[in-house]
Amino acid sequence: MEDFIFYDYNDLDTQTKNLIEQAKRATYLSYAPYSNFFVGAALLLENGTMVCGANQENASFPLCMCAERVALYTKASQYSAIGIIKMAVVARRDEEFVPAACCGACRQVMVEFEKRQPSAYEVIMQIQPHQWLKCRSAVVLIPFQFEF
Ligand SMILES: [Zn+2]
Repeated sequence: MEDFIFYDYNDLDTQTKNLIEQAKRATYLSYAPYSNFFVGAALLLENGTMVCGANQENASFPLCMCAERVALYTKASQYSAIGIIKMAVVARRDEEFVPAACCGACRQVMVEFEKRQPSAYEVIMQIQPHQWLKCRSAVVLIPFQFEF
């Protein structure tokens, strides 16, 4: 599989569309009174479980947490032994879903989660109004990542 494949939403497989819909629902659990930028992330695990996360802001801005990391840390706390198959990330302003890419900090965390399991997981995000990006692995999103 190529590192990056671009899709029209309608051309995505059903499993991926379901995961995107879960991520969209998660945006309504976001706490983002400062940015009004509501982000949702959804993980599909090997046992079929979906784990979601939404961004959580704080008046002390450095304490804010991205949806991707909320989802990953929730997964680690509740399903530590179960691998991730796919991750979908979406963003919303008001009622409109908008393209957004994962930040570098999340990419770093996503890679370490991938390295904790035997196989890569796909990452799906909307990068244009009618274009979705599917990455074969979190590693391709952040080359030369920090490692001990
Ligand atoms: Zn982030």
